[in-house]
Amino acid sequence: MQLRYNYRLYPTPGQQRALARAFGCARVVFNDALRARQEAFEAGLPYLTDAELSARLTAAKATPERAWLGEVSSAVLQQALADLQAAYRNFFASLAGARKGPKMAPPTFRSRKDRRQSIRFTRNARFSITPGGKLRLPKIGDVPVRWSRSLPCQPSSVTVIMDAAGRYFASFVVQAATEPHVAAATVVGIDLGLRHFAVLSDGRKVASPRFLRRAENKLRRAQRALSRKQKGSANRDKARIKVARAHARVTDARRDFHHQLSTSLIRDSQAIAVEDLAVKGLARTKMARSVHDAGWSAFTAMLEYKARLYGRQFHKIGRFEPTSQMCSACGVKDGPKPLHVREWTCAGCGATHDRDVNAAVNIAKAAGLAVTACGAQVRPGPVPAQRGEAGTLPGAA
Ligand SMILES: [Zn+2]
Repeated sequence: MQLRYNYRLYPTPGQQRALARAFGCARVVFNDALRARQEAFEAGLPYLTDAELSARLTAAKATPERAWLGEVSSAVLQQALADLQAAYRNFFASLAGARKGPKMAPPTFRSRKDRRQSIRFTRNARFSITPGGKLRLPKIGDVPVRWSRSLPCQPSSVTVIMDAAGRYFASFVVQAATEPHVAAATVVGIDLGLRHFAVLSDGRKVASPRFLRRAENKLRRAQRALSRKQKGSANRDKARIKVARAHARVTDARRDFHHQLSTSLIRDSQAIAVEDLAVKGLARTKMARSVHDAGWSAFTAMLEYKARLYGRQFHKIGRFEPTSQMCSACGVKDGPKPLHVREWTCAGCGATHDRDVNAAVNIAKAAGLAVTACGAQVRPGPVPAQRGEAGTLPGAA
């Protein structure tokens, strides 16, 4: 499985200029190739192949107008072409209906005003990590890195990113071997919600941590301050940078929280079940939906890859059972319940339920039933681990 490991970079002013040049060159190569394809299409000419675009890049570097492309690593330019090709592939696959998820738009031109600038170095670009722990990038230099955790093995590529807040990051791709955790005896169902970030079938309720709420409040204040500033004023520019920084901090805090929670859930549980978010209907505004759905899907994606990495079972269940209406003790469907009903007593068996915990238990049960359908297991319970698992593990990603 391929995983990304991200670290903060602290390039010197000279390196920042070299990076800006490389971002610019990659952008020009991407845009030139996109324009060539669009023009060929409009002229009714055959689709330009990847090899043709690569040949055109080589030819362009020999012309006076594009000679400056020689100032950056050619591997970076090749990767810009690869990005365009990937964007086209996704677009065509989405047209053909082969790709899951939302419909993809055709590739668009990159701009120097884009919120995120990036370049990628693959192995053959000969990037390396120096004995002193710096990231050596061809034609950029030895860039200082803050190693917040250690890389598990040699990376196959590194993407250097500048975000909207002007911060630099290195994102390494490494091939991670699966390392099963010691078998755990528990199965946990998770109900993701608005009131609590997650409610677990064992009754635990997980709220957003204070460091995340504080970052979100700061962002809200920065956004309000920005909206009060005169358009086109110097103060508005300053406020905009503040918003971008606050935004970046919220993103980081949310990711940290997702990592902490998913790591502990995977460590403690042998099997994990969540509801498929596509069918999770909740009363909420459009704005809240986009924010929460993004957070939930990032979190469930983490659970899924960590489950694979550490030999746990991961179940995503469709809402074929109304998880908040059904009694988790006796299975009686007690009818729909308005959101303000937090606790209810089952008319069938008299059990009293916390609404969210009951839903989480039903999610765990539904995952068990889903397994039954394949004839593997009768009900959720301790599941044998997949492999011999004596060793301990490094801190999860
Ligand atoms: Zn009941």
